[in-house]
Amino acid sequence: MPSTKVKGIVIGGINVKEKDKLVKLYTLELGKISVAFKGVRAEKAKLKSAKELFCFGDYIIESSKAGHIVTSCDIIDSFHAISKDIQKYYEACAILNIVDKAAYESNPLFFIEVIKSIKSICYDNIKRLYVLDKFLISYFDYSGYRFLSEKCSSCGAKLTKRYFNYDTGELVCPACKTFNCDAISDSAFTAMKILQNTDYDKLQTVKLGGEGEVQAFNILCKNFEWKTGYKVLKVI
Ligand SMILES: [Zn+2]
Repeated sequence: MPSTKVKGIVIGGINVKEKDKLVKLYTLELGKISVAFKGVRAEKAKLKSAKELFCFGDYIIESSKAGHIVTSCDIIDSFHAISKDIQKYYEACAILNIVDKAAYESNPLFFIEVIKSIKSICYDNIKRLYVLDKFLISYFDYSGYRFLSEKCSSCGAKLTKRYFNYDTGELVCPACKTFNCDAISDSAFTAMKILQNTDYDKLQTVKLGGEGEVQAFNILCKNFEWKTGYKVLKVI
């Protein structure tokens, strides 16, 4: 059987048969794929850690008509600390769920974005939801909706009051607003701009606070649902 090496992160999985597991792997090379781990739930299985949620590594897979089977893995990082902190865990799960629901094709830059976001949640002391906010903004960006503009997307006027148009995923002025728009406060707009322009490894220096932050999160989640039909997973 031909074998291939892929760099990937485990984004979900289910137990099958007595000791097997079917895992969803988001990979640099192939995008999202389903892989099987044989006998991996046995006490002394050598690939035990490689099947766990968040595990990031170089996976060797053998492919046949029946699908992909993982035969070995060099773990780069298991991001183990995420599972020890309930808030980090929920936020990281929300990110992996976005990848699961919305990322179909391979996109190296987006793959790097996913790994950076999970790494920041794991190791940095960042205020809750900032990584998820930034990740959502980037996700829209990669999907072709770079919306944090200073100008109305419809008439081109400079924006002094802003509305988010869910039909187009862009900002519009009061004159162009439609039924499917929400007002965006200056502080929410500024919050999103700051998160967009700050690298993941600098996010721990960011402090936004107040209603802008809350409104930004709500608009980003609503936009994701509007675009994809899926809700962003609940975070605590
Ligand atoms: Zn306008």
